[in-house]
Amino acid sequence: MTRFRHAKIVATLGPATDSEAAIGSLFAAGADVFRFNLSHGSHDDHRRRYAAVRALEAQYGRPIAVLGDLQGPKLRLGALAGGELAIKAGDRLTLDLDTAPGGAKRIPLPHPEIFAALERGSELLVDDGKVRLRVLRAGKDRADVEVVAGTRLSDRKGVNLPGAVLPISALTEKDRRDLAFALELGCDWIALSFVQRPDDVAEAKKLVAGRAGVMAKLEKPAALDRLEEIVELSDAVMVARGDLGVEMPPESVPGQQKRIVRACRHAGKPVVVATQMLESMVSSPAPTRAEASDVATAIYDGADAVMLSAETAVGQYAAEAVAMMARIAAVVEADPIYRVQVHSVHETPEATSADAITAAARQVAETLGAAAIVTYTTSGSTTLRAARERPAAPIVCLTPRAATARRLALAWGVYPVITEDAHDFDDMVSRAVAVAAEAGFARPGDRIAITAGVPFGTPGATNLLSLARVPG
Ligand code: PEP
Repeated sequence: MTRFRHAKIVATLGPATDSEAAIGSLFAAGADVFRFNLSHGSHDDHRRRYAAVRALEAQYGRPIAVLGDLQGPKLRLGALAGGELAIKAGDRLTLDLDTAPGGAKRIPLPHPEIFAALERGSELLVDDGKVRLRVLRAGKDRADVEVVAGTRLSDRKGVNLPGAVLPISALTEKDRRDLAFALELGCDWIALSFVQRPDDVAEAKKLVAGRAGVMAKLEKPAALDRLEEIVELSDAVMVARGDLGVEMPPESVPGQQKRIVRACRHAGKPVVVATQMLESMVSSPAPTRAEASDVATAIYDGADAVMLSAETAVGQYAAEAVAMMARIAAVVEADPIYRVQVHSVHETPEATSADAITAAARQVAETLGAAAIVTYTTSGSTTLRAARERPAAPIVCLTPRAATARRLALAWGVYPVITEDAHDFDDMVSRAVAVAAEAGFARPGDRIAITAGVPFGTPGATNLLSLARVPG
């Protein structure tokens, strides 16, 4: 099954897509990566879904990436007597560390690190910003606040402190347990929520130790202040617009999205644009025009992937939402404006042999109208450098490692195939030609460009560019 699409689709699994049949219909509709949201569901749920994804992979013979998304230090209110409390602007409340259920004047907030960061005038956002509280007096274990906006506080609603850098790790105890589980399961990517600083990524990378790629979710303004450093340390990035749009004004999110996509493309790191892309399809068979335009914008910007969350996890039209995204991508990618915007803008190659060879491969493919660029890779890094070039031709990634092929299912324009390393030059050419032809990228008489490293099978040795023709 070949997809002639550069941008990839990430679909979140959930109660609406729990069965093998439902997961299969998402894949058939165009999902390339399945996201397991570890904030929800039991390990047994995820284990069952993982088995279903790997069964699909075997059925279709196509590598599929699994992204394990850690909950991160999501801050929440404690419990309220009666479950909720009616409030209005001007009400005064006290937040404290007491775990007893809250009442009319007192709200439990079981996070000492929040009190450590509060000062007079700080703003707390509750329930995705539906409630805004301003701090009148801040103490070590309590704070008096005034309601600025909102009508209702409910049990355990999320709390955001825009702009504050909290003295907490991006990995809670739950995240550490979930991370060990996700790695044991075989997740190809691990997403790290609420990254605040480069050290958060470094800490996760140390724990993951190369067993998966680490994707930093950018949802805190503090992380954007150190964007380049975070991108440099991460293996991939997600523009997590849900929380980002709470932590900063919604009107600032589109510009930040473009800035993040640009930074990732410059660094050659896969970037996923996420959240509310086709939100109305949770309960409607068609998206709004604005949603279709939002997906299209991410694709025109050259993002590696677009993501569905509630649409596929709990929505009534999960497979339709994936199919809709795939159709939007196909239409955008056929648009001459897309070609000008994406294919004709090239990052400057770095002074490495992989960059020199992959930039030359793109150039040669363009000059000769080659049907595909075939990259031999072990770690996947040469293929990602080829993707950074955003060539018009598809990038076929040949690798002996299943883990590399699966991870690259996320990357822009990459068609991963698991195959043995080339044994010699003739084998390199005939294997590349056969895969490109079999996948339907190249027809008899077409040329392909091939990159590889000699001696064959040596990681990090890309030093060869060759041209071949599919026998006619
Ligand atoms: C987001 O906030 O946009 C996001 C993807 O994170 P989550 O769905 O895990 O809250």
